[in-house]
Amino acid sequence: MAGNIPQFYLRLGIPADKPFFEENKDLYYGVLVNARILESFPKSTAAFLNDLSKPFIIDPDTYAFKLDPSMLKRERDFQIKRSYSELEKFYNSIITQCFKEDRPIYPADFLGSNGNTDVKKLDEFSSKVIAYEKTRIDSLIGGLLRFMVETNAHPYVLMAPYFDSSSIVDPWYKISLELAKVSTKFKEKYQLYPVICIEKSFLANEANIAHLVKDYDFSGFDGYFIWLPDFNEDSENLVLLSGYAKLVKNLSKYGKPIIGMYGKFFSALLSYNGMTGFSSGINYWDKRSLEIAGGGPPYPRYYVPFLHTFLPWENVARLFSEDPSLVCRCPACKQALSGGQPSMNDIKTHFLYARFQELGDVASKKKNTIVRELLADYSKKKPLLEPLIQLDHLERWGKVIATI
Ligand SMILES: [Zn+2]
Repeated sequence: MAGNIPQFYLRLGIPADKPFFEENKDLYYGVLVNARILESFPKSTAAFLNDLSKPFIIDPDTYAFKLDPSMLKRERDFQIKRSYSELEKFYNSIITQCFKEDRPIYPADFLGSNGNTDVKKLDEFSSKVIAYEKTRIDSLIGGLLRFMVETNAHPYVLMAPYFDSSSIVDPWYKISLELAKVSTKFKEKYQLYPVICIEKSFLANEANIAHLVKDYDFSGFDGYFIWLPDFNEDSENLVLLSGYAKLVKNLSKYGKPIIGMYGKFFSALLSYNGMTGFSSGINYWDKRSLEIAGGGPPYPRYYVPFLHTFLPWENVARLFSEDPSLVCRCPACKQALSGGQPSMNDIKTHFLYARFQELGDVASKKKNTIVRELLADYSKKKPLLEPLIQLDHLERWGKVIATI
């Protein structure tokens, strides 16, 4: 069934990406920004989000405090990075205690003396995180400006505090779920979605999926975010791709929005199963591990629309010279490719056009048509492309989407 255009949220990674957000406002739905990035450049990021006037969501990055503290420190003096020490001021007491003791946050930080979760501790933490998301941009813009012009200083949706878990019996699974539930007490007029953040291996077991979907049936949740760390849409096997599709389909029975925190074209295809949107950076962060380090890859990888994945530019250039009918005709490429090699800027703008086109295709075509096209592309282009790239992802995606 053809349907709505999947909402594509651009992740704000490096400040240098900001002009692409500003110049291509019609090519994406909204912005997702990590709290740690916001706190690295607070004033400029707040002004940017306000001026942009697109829906934005703040990822509170609470899971980061579960990492070894050395990962939150600067290399030069081994002190906690400013972005995390700023967040500590907002989220405080549990995080303050962890920093003082130079340790990660533990499940015990949310437990009472009887070993059960302590509602007071859950309340305290979630109320602070939610207050941060609700007020941070507004207070950064602050001052006179707020009264002189209309601002866009409030998040579109609140993201509940969350921690990753390795399985549904990991203590963090329950703590994360309960934090999300208590967070709904503080949402006021806002919509609030919990984050389902769990190791991808959990998808291999249908009983796990059913269990989780039942656990997340809660009237206070207005939608769902999903983050499966290290889930690589291009290379996951049929079992995990099917598991993801089943998770989305089962959750969708609650009739609420479902947003993938990191994804690419398979996430767009999941809109046939109930996914309403997903996020990535411009040319990077379409998958993410729990580790913090690293921004986008600096090398020029070009998004090949008919492959729905990236290739190094040298390979794309070879492809285009072997079969000129494959050359992209988007506004960015039309100009850039007439002069030979595209610049990094062209490659980024091209990605935004290509993604916009893909999402429009998914919205306007029936599932069977898309599946047929994916499989046809796979078999037709295989001989030409096989020396350059593994194309199997198209076949796997087609199979999964056709059956679930
Ligand atoms: Zn293009």
